[in-house]
Amino acid sequence: MAGKLYLVPTPIGNLGDISRRGLETLESVDFIAAEDTRVTVKLLNHLGLKKPMVTYHRHNCETAGPAILQRIQGGETCALVTDAGTPAISDPGEDLVALCAAHGVEVESIPGPCALTVALSVSGLPTGRFTFEGFLPLNKKNRRAQLDSLAEEARTMVFYEAPHKLRTTLDDLAAAFGPDRPLAVCRELTKLHEEVLRLTLGEAVERFTAQEPRGEFVLVVAGRPAQAEAADEDGALARAEELRRTGMPLKQAAAQAAEEFGVKKRWLYNQLAAQDA
Ligand code: SAM
Repeated sequence: MAGKLYLVPTPIGNLGDISRRGLETLESVDFIAAEDTRVTVKLLNHLGLKKPMVTYHRHNCETAGPAILQRIQGGETCALVTDAGTPAISDPGEDLVALCAAHGVEVESIPGPCALTVALSVSGLPTGRFTFEGFLPLNKKNRRAQLDSLAEEARTMVFYEAPHKLRTTLDDLAAAFGPDRPLAVCRELTKLHEEVLRLTLGEAVERFTAQEPRGEFVLVVAGRPAQAEAADEDGALARAEELRRTGMPLKQAAAQAAEEFGVKKRWLYNQLAAQDA
């Protein structure tokens, strides 16, 4: 009979955050697949546990994944852990889950610490709808494309970032969404120096130009303001329709009203064209 893969979240700072079920799972499995065994052994020592471990990380997942799968298919149970947080969220755990799923191997996810949910819940920004963007691509073209795709995003956006790249990322976010966009900079969550700064992108750029970013960060950025958007677009549409009634051609009416109301020409053109169709 095939075994099972358990995803066991580990603390993102505060060691008290391991759940009882997480602990029981680590105790009961045949082996642990860890991102870095040196980090996990510290946690196991703290919990008073000893367990055989293998490594599973970004640089060996292509070979380690199939080896772990084979052991599970042979009847063993495995707990996947990362250095911190929930496996498979912005780490190669997602590939192991996909591999197991593709081979019909059961996967059970134990709920627990995740920087994404801790940051979102404390941000003070709308949480009803959000988009998790993880780490922005390093490649300039891909990064630009991802930020462009978020230009109209109305949902709250969550980004992970490393401290040495924080300034560049804040600059890029301010350029993409404007300096007045609110955000929560969530630093060192659950740790001694936990800090949540609620400010604008412009203020965040200034702050971290003056002060070197230290620690781990999640950026929770407000989406495009929905009401302002609706008011502008409604106004622009009404104005374009008015211009059309004077006999102005569709393209020209869309361009003029778009300019007056600061909305996208193409969007307005498409709205008018849909009415004509
Ligand atoms: N799987 C993890 C999770 O569930 O959150 C995330 C792994 S990802 C490789 C690491 C990133 O998570 C960090 O660069 C940082 O953006 C965020 N992070 C992890 N721990 C954090 C903490 N205590 N405070 C703020 N951000 C944290």
